[in-house]
Amino acid sequence: MQENKTNSSGNKPANQNVQNTKNSVKPQQKKPNPNRQNRKRKSAKNQASVLEGNEKWQKDMAFAIEANHKIHKERLEKFNLINNKTNAKVRITPLGGLGEIGGNITVIETDTTAIVVDVGMSFPTDDMHGVDILIPDFTYLRQIKKKIKAIVITHAHEDHIGAVAYLFKEMQFPIYATPLPLGMLSNKFEEHGLKQYRKLFRPVQKRKVYQIGDIKVEWMHITHSIIDASSLAITTEAGTIIHTGDFKIDHTPIDGYVTDLNRFAEYGEKGVSCLLSDSTNSHKEGITRSESTVGKTFDYIFSKSKGRVIMSTFSSNIHRVYQAISYGLKYGRKVCVIGRSMERNLFTAIDLGYIDLDKSIFIDPHEVNKHNDKEVLIVTTGSQGETMAALYRMATDEHRHIKIKPSDQIIISAKAIPGNEGSVSKVLNFLIKSGANVAYQDFSEIHVSGHAAQE
Ligand SMILES: [Zn+2]
Repeated sequence: MQENKTNSSGNKPANQNVQNTKNSVKPQQKKPNPNRQNRKRKSAKNQASVLEGNEKWQKDMAFAIEANHKIHKERLEKFNLINNKTNAKVRITPLGGLGEIGGNITVIETDTTAIVVDVGMSFPTDDMHGVDILIPDFTYLRQIKKKIKAIVITHAHEDHIGAVAYLFKEMQFPIYATPLPLGMLSNKFEEHGLKQYRKLFRPVQKRKVYQIGDIKVEWMHITHSIIDASSLAITTEAGTIIHTGDFKIDHTPIDGYVTDLNRFAEYGEKGVSCLLSDSTNSHKEGITRSESTVGKTFDYIFSKSKGRVIMSTFSSNIHRVYQAISYGLKYGRKVCVIGRSMERNLFTAIDLGYIDLDKSIFIDPHEVNKHNDKEVLIVTTGSQGETMAALYRMATDEHRHIKIKPSDQIIISAKAIPGNEGSVSKVLNFLIKSGANVAYQDFSEIHVSGHAAQE
């Protein structure tokens, strides 16, 4: 109602003004084309009314424009929200993972409390003969041992949890993490004879703030190439630090649990002093495609495959394995999981309720040959060309139960991690020589990254 009133009172003088201005600017020197004049008159009628003036609504418009400029400025320039008056300090010390892939470990420290974010391992390069894994240098942790109140885990990738067991052989602290990383750590502790330290596990809930010494930590859900990944909001008296952990922004993740952008926004509203961000893929333009796009490629390849399908990916990418299994089931195949780490990760995820698969669909490697080739899907490790992994052993005829056949359809659903290109092409050569059909990067969506591009 009010709107109509304003329009009707505002329209008349406004139209007149427009006409007058036009007349004064363009005196009728030439004889106008009558059609053209009609057009002009029509468009003049459709024009917005004059916006400046002394009527109440016009003054309100000017006020709103001014106010909105201020609001934009305030919401985009959050520096004012940071408390610069405090003398409190927070020290951030990356002991690994900065400017390198793998070995992530960062110490966040106030005067009285230190927390260690992630304790990851990294992988040796080809020239480090006899070295299986690399662990970070714990010297600084030894120095501040008394101050350390907790290990805080973002997600369950090896380069974030792979060195926890090695640290625990020397010193132990409570470990705060969501259930999947703790489930995977539980397996590791068992392997390393550290079962007694599982009592130090502190399973956390997302969207809840935990007080650790004088530091507050909240786990915020984020999407990545592993289930149950988190970013951290770490609040100290000196201010809030957002530690993104590894992430991509996947709007259609397999489990439907999209990134909790609302929580990020809430911290943003309050003011953040420091952002520590995943930088993998940050040089890449565009967006990183959703994990669910890989499913369509799987569907296409599975629909064309006449023999066995052998799919290899990272053992920790449980949603990728789950997608392959779903299409295997769609095309009437039984599933054989080969590779210790993949088997362990998949069944840990099933046991903890992250994915729902009936265990009767699985067959053991020695049962594969009892089934028709068309009824078999093998999911396996070795997508990085690791010589100890199942795929390599199958490709080189060293696997006890599985030999590659020309009728096999191999899918390498991964990309070589920098440094692994040589070993990946080596295993590809073996597979191709055996006559099998190999799909690797033939489809743009045979693999998608777990890290956000510039978007
Ligand atoms: Zn990761």
